[in-house]
This record gives sequence, structure tokens and C-alpha cells, in this order.
Amino acid sequence: MTDMTGWSVERLHEDHAQALRVTSVLYDSETEHQRLRVIENPTFGRVLTLDGVVQVTERDNFIYHEMMTHVPLFAHGAAKRVLIVGGGDGGMAREALRHPLERVTMVEIDAGVVDFSKEYLPAISDGAFDDPRLDLVIADGAAFMRETEGGYDVIIVDSTDPVGPGEVLFTDHFYGLAKRALAPGGILVTQNGVPFMQPEELRGTMRAFSALFGDTTCYLATVPTYAGGPMAFGWGTDGLARETSPSDLAARVAASGLDFGYYSAAVHSAAFALPGYVARLLA
Ligand code: SAM
Repeated sequence: MTDMTGWSVERLHEDHAQALRVTSVLYDSETEHQRLRVIENPTFGRVLTLDGVVQVTERDNFIYHEMMTHVPLFAHGAAKRVLIVGGGDGGMAREALRHPLERVTMVEIDAGVVDFSKEYLPAISDGAFDDPRLDLVIADGAAFMRETEGGYDVIIVDSTDPVGPGEVLFTDHFYGLAKRALAPGGILVTQNGVPFMQPEELRGTMRAFSALFGDTTCYLATVPTYAGGPMAFGWGTDGLARETSPSDLAARVAASGLDFGYYSAAVHSAAFALPGYVARLLA
């Protein structure tokens, strides 16, 4: 993060950066794990950055959170227990808890992210932290995965990028532990960055998943503040969730009575149609 006068600059690559105009800095401090900042931007509202990298914004977070929850949950069709690794802003829990789940366990390494998200970004969690079905655990997701008894129908890794505390969540070892923690037919989805800018991140996850799961792929969504093109979500399961017919998927979505800003049964199916430069990263 290098601030030009009145701008927050995120270096995405050695020769590519994204700048957001800063109308005010609402929060700026170091936790035990990372530097937290919340800035105000006229277009995106309040923006959370961790170590200078945009994590979530009030205006476009719905795209990311809808696509990482409703795609696996509607594909699964009967999920009861969900595990979220990371997700400290509460947006992933918000969207998951819209489904008739029994329990959502959220394992976040940095209590500081949760605490100040509740205070400075309440619209993102939108009451999720008060939902009695939510179990919030402050711990390293990798350590938790070693100890958990498992039985999760969907595991969502909503982590930072593979640097700092997030790095351990992109390892073959962690993915193996996550697979072990899945219930039969369970689905693992992972935040896998913007493949046009970070191809090796997706390639590494897909290589690890293909050694673990019968069904390995990724799906895409475009989130304006994750600059550089569509972002990828890793998908791994030994179940048949991706064989859900478009008509069954549409029926599940209609029966849910939920409305969305981005997700739909048609968008769900289309998200798995990969352009060549992404598909080649799966080979
Ligand atoms: N949407 C963002 C993205 O795509 O980069 C992710 C948002 S969420 C705020 C990322 C969360 O992962 C942060 O709260 C961070 O503290 C958490 N995190 C990073 N490493 C972790 C670990 N090893 N275990 C648990 N949580 C972790």
C-alpha cells in the first residue's frame, strides 16, 4: 500500500496497481497478524484492506459472497453443516445463513478483523454474528482443520491471498485435511484470486485438488475491486453435485424464495464455462 495524496494504491503486480480515492480513513492499525485499514471511497463505500490488499467493499461484496456460498449450497441441495475458513468480515456467513443450515462454523485467525468489521462494516455481516447457528472460532484455519471431527457438507476457504497468515491455506497438506473434513458428497470451494494476474495460484490449487477429488474444476465471477479480470473459485468434491440438472438447480433456487444481486441458476451454470486461458491452468 503506497498512498498518493488522497489515494489508496494497491500493487497487484510489479507493474500493475489499482488506486481508490480516499475520502476518509476510518480505521488504520496493526493487529498481531496484519495491517487493517478501512477507507471510504465514493464509488465502493467502505473498503477493508489487509496489508494494503482490498478484501471487501460495501458495494461489490455481494458478488463474491453470493458466488462462494450459493453455488456449492444449491449444487449440494441438502447441506446442513458448513465450515468457513477466514471470512472475518462476516459477509460469507451472512450469505450462507440465508439457507436452512443447522450450523455454520467460522474459523478466523484475526479477532481484530471480526471486531472492527462489526463496528466499521456492519452492513457486510448484517447480523450474521448474532445468528445462533453461527459458531465463531478464533484460530488458524490449518490448525483447526487438523483437529476438527469434520462432517461438513460445504467448506468455504474465504482467505486472504497466499501470503502471510493465508499462505498455509493454499498448501496440499491443508487441502488434504479439508478433504478429510468433508462429509460424503461434500464440496470444498476456495478463493483463488484473479487467474489473469495470479495464474500460478489457481494452477497450484487445481493440481492439488485433482490429486484429491474426483471432480475438480473452478468457476468464475467478476468482482470490480478484484482487478485484472474474473476471479476464480476452486471447486473440489467426490460427490455428484455438478451433475445437478439445470432444471433441478432452477427449481431449488426458486423454492428457496431467496433473491440475489448476482447469483441465479443460469449464472451458476455459466460460471463453470471457462475461457481457454483459465481452462489451460487446470490441465
Ligand atoms: N474476499 C477476500 C479475498 O478474496 O481476498 C477475503 C476476505 S476475508 C477478510 C479474509 C480473511 O482471511 C481475513 O479476515 C484474514 O484474517 C483471514 N485469514 C488469513 N489467514 C488465515 C488463516 N490461516 N486462518 C484463518 N483465517 C485466516
